[in-house]
Amino acid sequence: MTKKFQNFIDGKWCDAISGKTFENRNPSNWDEVVGTFPKSSKEDVDRAVSEARKAFDTWRLVPEPKRGDIMRKVGDLMVGKKEDLARQMTREMGKVLAETRGDVQEGIDTAYYASSEGRRLFGRTVPSELPNKFNMAMRVPIGVAGVVTPWNFPMAIPTWKIFPALLSGHTVVFKPASDTPATATSLVEILLEAGVPEGVINIVHGGGGEVGMGIVGHPDVDLVSFTGSTVVGKKISEVAAGTLKRVSLELGGKNAQLVMGDADLDLALEGVLWGAFGTTGQRCTATSRLLLDERIYDKFVDMLVTRTRKLRLGSGLLPDVDVGPCINEGQRKTVQEYVEIGLKEGARLGTGGHVPKGNGLEKGWFHEPTIFLDVRPNHRIAQEEIFGPVLSVIKVGSLREGVEILNGTIYGLSSSVYTKDVNSAFQAIRDIKAGITYINAPTIGAEAHMPFGGVKQTGNGHREGGWTVYDFFTEWKTVYVDFSGGLQRAQIDNYSS
Ligand code: NDP
Repeated sequence: MTKKFQNFIDGKWCDAISGKTFENRNPSNWDEVVGTFPKSSKEDVDRAVSEARKAFDTWRLVPEPKRGDIMRKVGDLMVGKKEDLARQMTREMGKVLAETRGDVQEGIDTAYYASSEGRRLFGRTVPSELPNKFNMAMRVPIGVAGVVTPWNFPMAIPTWKIFPALLSGHTVVFKPASDTPATATSLVEILLEAGVPEGVINIVHGGGGEVGMGIVGHPDVDLVSFTGSTVVGKKISEVAAGTLKRVSLELGGKNAQLVMGDADLDLALEGVLWGAFGTTGQRCTATSRLLLDERIYDKFVDMLVTRTRKLRLGSGLLPDVDVGPCINEGQRKTVQEYVEIGLKEGARLGTGGHVPKGNGLEKGWFHEPTIFLDVRPNHRIAQEEIFGPVLSVIKVGSLREGVEILNGTIYGLSSSVYTKDVNSAFQAIRDIKAGITYINAPTIGAEAHMPFGGVKQTGNGHREGGWTVYDFFTEWKTVYVDFSGGLQRAQIDNYSS
């Protein structure tokens, strides 16, 4: 029987007020229904926000180290459930088990980091310009946090937002992607088991336009943390401006790996295979452009095409599979459309380019790992985010030209340079316009305690991860304590001559 999932609002599991539901299916086998979920509407959002608002009054007063203790329990619980969570995630969104285990591990790391932050969350004490006066600035929570997340890291990305939000004293209304609502529900169950009180965490399932936008536009939601496409991010920015709420946007990417002539080519090959086809290319940090020094172009293309043809497609639950399906029919269609666009623009297929047939793949949203050669930097396949297993290869004549092409898109998330020359490496680090640069490592591989985010249309300047996410999830409160017993006037009394 199909498993029925619910919203969690005000400490109770409940259906959508309308009673409507939607189904979620396994992208490797669309006959398999993962579950049915509430198709919520604005009324459900209103209820969740109102309960979160009430709960904020008490949650904000719980000492940070106590909130940190809960986060430690969350991490411990996730460790115990890691394998089950990873398997559920692979069934729900298709990526291979090694990757879904990594996704859960990122959540565990984020929980333990949040736990330790409970005993830091440093403010500052600063000298006063007046005698017998004490100055400090402390971090305080803002209120109700709206969290809207995508499907490609269904555990890690919600934890990047929800854990620091809770640790710093916010209450949360969480709307996960419609393609990964089961993983999101498991996360909420873990938070409750660890002791997060009623009303502090709320999950509302349903569509982006109605539930997502309902949260963003709600006057009682004080801040919104969103990861998703640049198109939706722009809409969110516009709507949030109506109430001037704080918004963190982590959006698209068109990341490149640059391989110089002096690079270790075997290492660069492993990097690009992992960067381009890990998570079926559906990562915001995926390598979708490969910039090859003309000195090694032909040799490296041969190596790359040969290895790519050996990648095995299939259900991520099978041990020998390298690449899973696209997330859904729409995403595979987008990939197919970009293959057509690439061919029309004059690029040449090195391998792939088709929907595979046979081998038990006919009931999943699979697409062959695809490599385009003879791509020019201004081709649409080299400019626009495809979010699928498609890599565009571009020839470059120098480090300078490579960096220029690497920088030549509207995005600026991740980047990678393979070289053995320390001067080239540091010039690239200096000149690349991106939030993240890897040297001799692929464009994917973020660590939970490091800042994560991009420049240009990849976001609006905030960073997730590590200590930096707490800058988004706290407000600075400035405090002056005058213990002189008299009126002291800053800028005046000290300087009256
Ligand atoms: P979307 O922007 O389509 O969706 C992201 C989330 O927003 C989902 O929960 C979605 O709900 C919701 N949503 C959709 N429309 C609206 C709306 N009008 N108002 C409010 N919320 C809305 O992105 P995808 O889920 O397709 O994810 C892929 C995109 O995310 C890629 O562009 C990728 O680059 C980016 N991404 C960026 C990352 C980063 O850190 N920079 C990391 C991971 C992904 P629903 O599912 O119901 O449609």
